Amino acid sequence: MEPEVESLTVDEPESKAVAGTESKAGSEAVASKVFKLPTELPSELMSGSLNEIFKFVKTNLLIENKECCGILTKVSNNFKLILNGIGDEIDASGDGVCSHSSYANIIWHTHPDSVKRYYPSIEDVVKILKHSEITESYIFCKYGVWNMTYTGQQTNEKIGNIEAIKTSQAQANLYKSTSGYIINYYNFKLDKAVAPGNIYDSAAITTYCDKLSQKISGLKMTFTDLEGIVLGSKKKRSKKKRSKKKRSKKKRSKKKRSKKKRSKKKRSKKK
Ligand SMILES: [Zn+2]
Repeated sequence: MEPEVESLTVDEPESKAVAGTESKAGSEAVASKVFKLPTELPSELMSGSLNEIFKFVKTNLLIENKECCGILTKVSNNFKLILNGIGDEIDASGDGVCSHSSYANIIWHTHPDSVKRYYPSIEDVVKILKHSEITESYIFCKYGVWNMTYTGQQTNEKIGNIEAIKTSQAQANLYKSTSGYIINYYNFKLDKAVAPGNIYDSAAITTYCDKLSQKISGLKMTFTDLEGIVLGSKKKRSKKKRSKKKRSKKKRSKKKRSKKKRSKKKRSKKK
């Protein structure tokens, strides 16, 4: 069940990804921008369906050269998009960060157009595992929306020391059975798959979502792209098929099965 170690190279995956990433789009967009980030937080930005919220975020928040974060509250069929944190300007390193002033069942944050990676960071995934209060997490990015659901809470022991896991393979090996190790492994794989260029890679995204959903019990990760196509959502069906096959293999070998079939036919003929 454990991911293999050999291709997990944890030394500075960040520096490798810089080369092909896009330059900051934020400064260009400022001139024609109507929406202004509120100065007082928390602040309700809008309410609507998730699709409407994504459109709003894409037009107004993803062009900011800083991460935004907050919570979503559900009111009948509509969601309220509440902003409760704004990160610092994203510098040349391309890394963004945003601290929520408070958590709720549903949290969200942006990976703006100018950020180096459009996919979840290890910390993004760990967050929903760590805090029992958070059951759903959205990450809005230029290609669509990441969605994670998880109910429950993992201990620090179960998660492992993320900093150590990211530092070196030798250190990561000490945490092989942890969620942190698994997340780092698949994040790094995705990083390698999409870098350089930071391109939208649906196959790599699907694998990433499926693997995390399979390996971390209770976690469900999907990605919905701009056309509404949901990636990483086929986990249940394929798992059922596989487990059926496994069961039948365990119960009887092929030879035995054909024998049984034959005897069944004989029996039915007799009748
Ligand atoms: Zn993030």
